[in-house]
Amino acid sequence: KAIGIDAGGTLTKVAYLDKHNELVLTTFPSNDLLAVKDWIIKHPDIEDIGVTGGRTEQLLEVIKAMKSIHYIVEFEATLKGVRFLLHKEGYFFERSMITNIGTGTSIHYMEGNTHIRVGGTGIGGGTLIGLSALTTGITDYNEIREMSSHGNRESIDLLVKDIYQGMDTPIDGHLTASNFGKVGITEFVNHPAEDIIATVQGLVGEVITTLSIQYAEEKNAQHIVYIGSTLSNNDHLARVIANYTRTKKHIPVFINDHGFSGAVGALLNI
Ligand code: ATP
Ligand code: MG
Repeated sequence: KAIGIDAGGTLTKVAYLDKHNELVLTTFPSNDLLAVKDWIIKHPDIEDIGVTGGRTEQLLEVIKAMKSIHYIVEFEATLKGVRFLLHKEGYFFERSMITNIGTGTSIHYMEGNTHIRVGGTGIGGGTLIGLSALTTGITDYNEIREMSSHGNRESIDLLVKDIYQGMDTPIDGHLTASNFGKVGITEFVNHPAEDIIATVQGLVGEVITTLSIQYAEEKNAQHIVYIGSTLSNNDHLARVIANYTRTKKHIPVFINDHGFSGAVGALLNI
């Protein structure tokens, strides 16, 4: 049997096909690569391992000499996996942007069977966790995700309409004029952790969307496919991104198992 492993900055993703040809997916924290080794040892039928991701070298330190290893560079693996997952759901875009929100964010342009990385930003899943932790003390991703669904950004973010009070706004008044901008110009109050985390999600989502849209316009692509584990069960972030993308006249696309694109690509590469 063959498996694909994507050893990322935060999470190590594993993908393989079961005997019914269904994808099976699992994750490990990347700071515990020995757990990956134990898992492989418990699956003696594994013969080939496709590997990708920035922590490949660290992973190989742990699993080398175990099986036959097939390496593929991260962006190749991700795009190969994304193409597979898109086709599986019946999407065939001639041109699209692929925005991978991992620990950091990478943005790619995909056209037919070709793709290039057009840019990225350090604002990503690591920022979501890091800023949430620093501002509220909460460090657990699932707690962060859960809390933001009860949060409200209104008293922290400054919207365009908050500035242009009683006037016509030059752009959509509901757009954010300044993320966290209300705090500095109103009397200081303590904000609930839920509200702060929801606002961090807003910041992360809006920066990533704004950048993705600029590249989409440059490349004349309508669809933006958002992937990466930062979106795993993270409805709040997905909503920020979907709304912002639509407001700016582009089409957001979300697909199943998107966080495993790299692992699927590494598996397909064997
Ligand atoms: P990169 O591609 O930048 O090297 P990565 O591949 O590890 O990083 P992903 O796995 O796509 O990145 O996403 C990591 C992000 O997903 C984290 O920063 C966090 O926001 C979120 N996340 C989702 N599930 C978890 C989890 N169980 N533990 C920690 N973070 C999680
Ligand atoms: Mg990754």
